[in-house]
Parts: sequence; C-alpha cells; structure tokens
Amino acid sequence: MAVINCPNCKKKISDKAKSCSHCEIDLTKVDANQIASMKKLSKINQSQNLINHSFIAMLLFCGGFLFLYWQDAQQGTWQYFISIGTAVVGFIWYIATRIRLLMLKYRN
Ligand SMILES: [Zn+2]
Repeated sequence: MAVINCPNCKKKISDKAKSCSHCEIDLTKVDANQIASMKKLSKINQSQNLINHSFIAMLLFCGGFLFLYWQDAQQGTWQYFISIGTAVVGFIWYIATRIRLLMLKYRN
C-alpha cells in the first residue's frame, strides 16, 4: 500500500481507496495514469526525505569524530563516550537510511 495525494484536495490517502476520505471524490473515475504519476511523485518525495536524513546522519557521524579530535578527548571521559556514541548513531542511521533508499528504489 502506498500513500498518495488526493487529486482533488491534495490530502494524503491510500492508493487502494476507492474514494477520498476527506473530500469524497470518486477515485475509481480518476485516470490510472494519474494515480501512477502521483505514486511516482510520492516516491520521489520519500526518497528526497531519506536523502536529507542520510545527510544529517553523515553530519552526525563526522561531527562525532571531529569533536573527538577537536576536544582531544581521552578514553573513558564523557566527551569520549559522547563523541563515539554520536558517531556510532550517525553511522547506523546512515546505513539504515541507505538501505531504506535502496528498498524504495526496487519497490513498486
Ligand atoms: Zn480528497
């Protein structure tokens, strides 16, 4: 199931819905090509979102390491743990976002 924008009121609805739950337009009368192009558009929006997320994740990852060197944090100090923690979270987030992007690319 994918979420699309209603062609009439532009609110988010399911692509499986037969009518819009907001403005009650009959979606069975809406052109299938129109639905397909709306799906494509929502996919583009989603992937743009994920790309933004991966960018923030990458910043976190780099920021963690930069902080580590910049502060010259010694092992065992709270600065060290925060730096490593931030870098690890950023790294995992980045990988997860990349996987989601790949899944989005190969999903219909
Ligand atoms: Zn609507």
